[in-house]
Amino acid sequence: MGDRWVEVADRVWVRRCEELDLSLGLVAGDDCCLVIDTGVSADHGFAFATAVRELTPLPWQIAYTHDHFDHWFGTAAFGESAIWAVADGARFIATGDEQRKRWAAKYRLDRREEDARAIGRSRLVPPNCRVSGAIGLDLGGRTVVLRQVGLAHSDNDMVVEVPDAGVLFAGDLVENGAPPSYGDAFPYHWPQAVEYLLSWRPQTVVPGHGEAADYWWARGQVREMAEVARLCGEVAQGLVPVEEAAEHGPFGPETMRTAIERSRLLAPPPPPPPLPEPPAQSDPEAARQSPMGNPAFDAAPWAPVCIYDAIDYVIGPDGSIEAE
Ligand SMILES: [Zn+2]
Repeated sequence: MGDRWVEVADRVWVRRCEELDLSLGLVAGDDCCLVIDTGVSADHGFAFATAVRELTPLPWQIAYTHDHFDHWFGTAAFGESAIWAVADGARFIATGDEQRKRWAAKYRLDRREEDARAIGRSRLVPPNCRVSGAIGLDLGGRTVVLRQVGLAHSDNDMVVEVPDAGVLFAGDLVENGAPPSYGDAFPYHWPQAVEYLLSWRPQTVVPGHGEAADYWWARGQVREMAEVARLCGEVAQGLVPVEEAAEHGPFGPETMRTAIERSRLLAPPPPPPPLPEPPAQSDPEAARQSPMGNPAFDAAPWAPVCIYDAIDYVIGPDGSIEAE
């Protein structure tokens, strides 16, 4: 079938790609246009740039939604251009080199030699304009907002808002038709981040992968992400075994396991175990002197004795908490 354009609002287009079900973006003003992500390889980017030129002759600028290879390896075909991103160029190059090796190997394993070679020969083009917080970009008669997200699908997510058209290009913060990807994600932060981004109620939300959808669809996905975060927390506290959480996770067992793994790497230690039972009274003399029957608790009632501070604990592989 090949890649195709979908116009989701006035001069706002989504390029639906066969490869990885990617959704690339294009927003045109009166003076210039903004290209959102560039595809998986230089070859793919060349096809995308050609398709952009079928729609508009305006000069372009480029926005990277984050540093995963499928969103920026196609840039070489666009030539000299302003490229906006949250992370800096050095970081893009470092992570890009590593991803290029990993994905070329993966494509080779899948017996996709031509795709492996296309990734291998793609020249990496790092961003040259940094976005911190949010900036408005005047495209001529229309301003788009590039917004840093914080910790969510990755540590350098950026979204593009087109307020006059009610469109939010969300990058991989949401995915339509496949589970969101938790490999580099921050499971506890992600749902709040998307909820915040949806607070202006965009009519159309364009995911990084899958068809564009509406506000209510995106809100539904936030609810499921909140459930993932809740399950990660319950596993960390030893309330739910990993396999049970995986079985009931809203995006399927594999995604849930990845999210739990990430939450373990990133989360602060879980709260201490409950206060142990007071020690049994073995000294009748001490018990007699203590109005509460336990000298450890009532010796200085205004300065509570903290017993559990001294206990170290570890989380077992099944999520259980054990005192060390
Ligand atoms: Zn991604």
